[in-house]
Amino acid sequence: MIFDGNVVLVTGGSRGIGRAVALEFAAGGATLAIQYRQDRRAAEEVIAALPPGPHLALQADVADAAQVQDLVQTVVDRLGRVDVLVNNAGIFVQHPVLTTDYAAWQEAWRQTIDTNLIGPANLVRCVVPHMVAAGGGRIVNVTSRGAFRGEPEHTAYGASKAGLNSLSQSLAQELAPHGIYVTAVAPGFVETDMTTAYLDGPGGVAIRAQSPLGRTATPQEIARVVVFLATPGTESAVGAIVDVNGASYLRT
Ligand code: NAP
Repeated sequence: MIFDGNVVLVTGGSRGIGRAVALEFAAGGATLAIQYRQDRRAAEEVIAALPPGPHLALQADVADAAQVQDLVQTVVDRLGRVDVLVNNAGIFVQHPVLTTDYAAWQEAWRQTIDTNLIGPANLVRCVVPHMVAAGGGRIVNVTSRGAFRGEPEHTAYGASKAGLNSLSQSLAQELAPHGIYVTAVAPGFVETDMTTAYLDGPGGVAIRAQSPLGRTATPQEIARVVVFLATPGTESAVGAIVDVNGASYLRT
């Protein structure tokens, strides 16, 4: 199988898109290290759903630089390598500028940037030396349509994902000469815990109507694109940011 012998580290692998990414890589023969923040039971259920193997579920807060370092070291100590890093963990915190008090505004920005942007940057910094030593690797960052379209009431989220796109493209150029290929996937609305309140609320019908498909994406659809970008033979996609938003927002 295409990922036989490969170790794939998926952040936020306990639920939603990260869970689907883990299942998809495992179907290709990969050994998975899935990181979660607090939902240990969900993470263990993902491991139980994978084909047998030395897969790991590891707790860490990606917003904490020391925990990120420990996480990567644990994966390398226990599984020997990291061939693919999927920076998927993220948060979507509402903070409308007109009604959010100043302290809450600062907290929303700090938490969001720490989790969605600095976390992935630190993961890259910790993983890359191991990839260089192994002769190469793949990094796929999960960003968002909101980076391009704007993300009203979630301004920090939009900014964090725009930053993650920029990080991806800078790294694509910096790391490709070392055999490390960096790409990004930018989903629109996907049916996960992150969006349940929006999709089940009064705006749900309008959200689904944003796409000519008349629906939101499934986590599996995002996962298949993530896995495709990490598949040997797709090297010239390096630096790409692939939209997976059901044509709800078309960049020119
Ligand atoms: P989700 O269902 O809310 O799951 C989030 C995952 O991230 C969980 O595994 C959670 O761990 C983990 N996580 C959150 N904060 C963390 C932290 N500080 N440290 C470590 N892990 C943390 O989210 P999702 O919808 O699958 O989203 C996955 C990614 O896709 C995110 O980056 C999101 O921004 C992006 N995205 C989602 C959508 C969408 O519509 N759903 C659209 C565009 C982009 P626990 O389970 O332990 O809490």
